[in-house]
Amino acid sequence: MASVATTVSELTARMHGEVIGPGDARYDEGRAVYNAMIDKRPAAIARCHDIMDVVTALEVARAHDLPVAVRCGGHNGAGLGTVDGGIVVDLSPMSDVTVDPVANTVRVQGGATLGAVDKATHEHGLAVPAGIISTTGVGGLTLGGGLGHLSRKCGLTIDNLVAAEVVLADGSVVTADAEHEKDLFWALRGGGGNFGVVTTFTFRCHQVANVLAGPVLYAMEDAAEVLAWYRDFIGQAPEELAGFFAFLSVPPGPPFPEELHLRKVCGVVWCSTGDEDAPALKAARSFGTPLLDGIAPMPFPVWNSAFDGVYPAGDQWYWRADFVDSIPDAAIEKHVEFGAAMPTWKSTMHLYPIDGAPSRVSEDSTAWAYRDANWAQVMVGVDPDPANAEAIKAWAIDYWDALHPFSLGGAYVNFMMDEGQERVQATYRGNYERLAKVKAQYDPGNFFHVNQNIRPG
Ligand SMILES: Cc1cc2nc3c(=O)[nH]c(=O)nc-3n(C[C@H](O)[C@H](O)[C@H](O)COP(=O)(O)OP(=O)(O)OC[C@H]3O[C@@H](n4cnc5c(N)ncnc54)[C@H](O)[C@@H]3O)c2cc1C
Repeated sequence: MASVATTVSELTARMHGEVIGPGDARYDEGRAVYNAMIDKRPAAIARCHDIMDVVTALEVARAHDLPVAVRCGGHNGAGLGTVDGGIVVDLSPMSDVTVDPVANTVRVQGGATLGAVDKATHEHGLAVPAGIISTTGVGGLTLGGGLGHLSRKCGLTIDNLVAAEVVLADGSVVTADAEHEKDLFWALRGGGGNFGVVTTFTFRCHQVANVLAGPVLYAMEDAAEVLAWYRDFIGQAPEELAGFFAFLSVPPGPPFPEELHLRKVCGVVWCSTGDEDAPALKAARSFGTPLLDGIAPMPFPVWNSAFDGVYPAGDQWYWRADFVDSIPDAAIEKHVEFGAAMPTWKSTMHLYPIDGAPSRVSEDSTAWAYRDANWAQVMVGVDPDPANAEAIKAWAIDYWDALHPFSLGGAYVNFMMDEGQERVQATYRGNYERLAKVKAQYDPGNFFHVNQNIRPG
């Protein structure tokens, strides 16, 4: 194994992009990821400017037997965008987004954020279904599946992936799509960063320009009633209407009224691509006695970045998740108990609906194995203060323990911490074996192992 100084100087000599090592004034900024609970010290952060930089960084890592972490937006909760003593292949400088309005597709470099995609596609009245916070990386989100406001109508992000340009473990570059490298294309759609570095994604776009969106919030005392109503309502609603159920504390700032600031509430965060007077949206807004109806018309990129300010980089994060197909009354009871016990104002629980378009894709046509799930559930402990790290972690784990018996057994891979190999296998159910075979074909030495790891089989 080479010394850190050798690794840094070799990368610096060969790469177009900048290389940051431990002696560099930018080292702390460069090694930081979104979740401040993660504190790793890589040998080098290789800021790749082009595909050759990626090839070079991997070559240096291979030559010196160093572990590699691939970073796009750096949002991974488990901190998989960094690694102790290894090379961070930081793709963030590779963030070009090019829309082809004729083909109705968008080419996105592997280091772009969701916000960059939203901005570029919106100029053409288009959107790609992805996640709900615009600073999240397209790379990690897509490779794990990708769910958000448009999933019920437009499918998961992977359901709209048309092609991927990939640098493989041996340094070769391939394009995977429906006609080429078919097994790889299958595995990339849900299998995470196990198979190579994706330098360009091509997505199909949808005609979504403006949405009617916002939260409808209720008193915590109404939580059991609201969740039972939501459970029965959402599956019957047209797919143009999406809404995730949440426990949250009202953010302490505009546009929320001061009298609600920091109050623990429950609610549904709605997003509709239909008309304002559509019956389902009207029904959603007229249920119960809301404390607040914040639904308003807005451009999709505005809605998709509405929570960015609440969740800047640098907070402590710990989350636990599961897929669920039903929410029995006994589960509602537990939800209400733990919702009321949220340890900090940024902590939250979300139930994202993934029925509709995602459920019409067969379970074996991509690596994503939970097409029968109706929701992806996630308990999220968040706080800026490291002193609260244990409290948010304990709450998320206890909450998850209480609800896990009501789940389908596995979780969305992008909402997992370092939870062990059994949980990774539970994520992929019957698809795990095929994933292990594809891994053996494309990465037999498990070079890409800083991820929710699929072992070559
Ligand atoms: C605030 C917040 C909001 C979120 N909201 C959503 C949401 O609405 N919907 C949703 O589905 N998920 C959501 N997530 C989860 C998110 O999908 C994961 O955290 C994901 O890993 C983030 O991707 P990233 O590129 O930012 O992460 P990074 O930490 O940069 O990368 C994570 C891992 O992904 C892989 N990877 C990333 N880019 C590439 C690439 N180009 N090629 C190969 N491998 C790559 C690598 O294995 C890497 O270790 C959210 C996360 C946060 C923190």
